[in-house]
Amino acid sequence: MDRRAEIADNLAAVRERIAAACASAGRSPSEITLVAVTKTYPASDVLHLISLGVTDVGENRDQDAAGKAAEVAAAGASVRWHFIGQLQRNKAKSVVTYADMVHSVDSLELVRVLDDQAGKRRGTPLDVLVQVSLDDDPDRGGVVSAELSEVAGAVASAGSLRLRGLMAVAPLGESPRSSMALSAFATLAECSRVLRTVYPDATVMSAGMSEDLVEAIACGATHVRIGSALLGKRSVLR
Ligand SMILES: *Cc1c(COP(=O)(O)O)cnc(C)c1O
Repeated sequence: MDRRAEIADNLAAVRERIAAACASAGRSPSEITLVAVTKTYPASDVLHLISLGVTDVGENRDQDAAGKAAEVAAAGASVRWHFIGQLQRNKAKSVVTYADMVHSVDSLELVRVLDDQAGKRRGTPLDVLVQVSLDDDPDRGGVVSAELSEVAGAVASAGSLRLRGLMAVAPLGESPRSSMALSAFATLAECSRVLRTVYPDATVMSAGMSEDLVEAIACGATHVRIGSALLGKRSVLR
């Protein structure tokens, strides 16, 4: 089967899972943005996805994303780029030039650098999500719950950033993945509810990957980040 047909089949299956998850949660699929995670895959796959109707793609390393964004633009195609990986401060300068939304903001220092670079290099504010740590393990990225309001407040008051909501990755654990994911995403949903009492426009909840998108949608996710279910298992683990 050619690559585009393979991706088309995978995409149809993912869209069906999203529709089924929405049906059982009493939600509409129109509330869900599918972010196709293209890390480790070439720009040609991004172009296939775009030709199949995908409007949003996610990348986790600036070194790969910057080149792919340039290739896609050179091919005359356009898509919204989501930066979803841990972001080193020295990469902010590059990321603000192509990213439409950064999901992984997790420190005051990163807020400061992104705001500064976005102000210098963009005509419009950069959409930002604060990444929440659901296991309070800072090594996996995300702010611990005690720091959430401070980091969110810094984004909200940054002139060149726009606070759009929260992102999280479900913790890895021993108990069945689905119950771990459900309780983690329920915690994220509660953080989101509290955040919206202060910032009503921060409505995005980015949660759910290939294996736990159903649980994420059940808990209120608005953006799901799907890689392997669309493009295949990555040979490199990252
Ligand atoms: C790789 C990645 C995904 C996609 O994971 P899959 O299991 O391949 O769907 C989602 N979110 C983040 C932050 C990632 O790094």
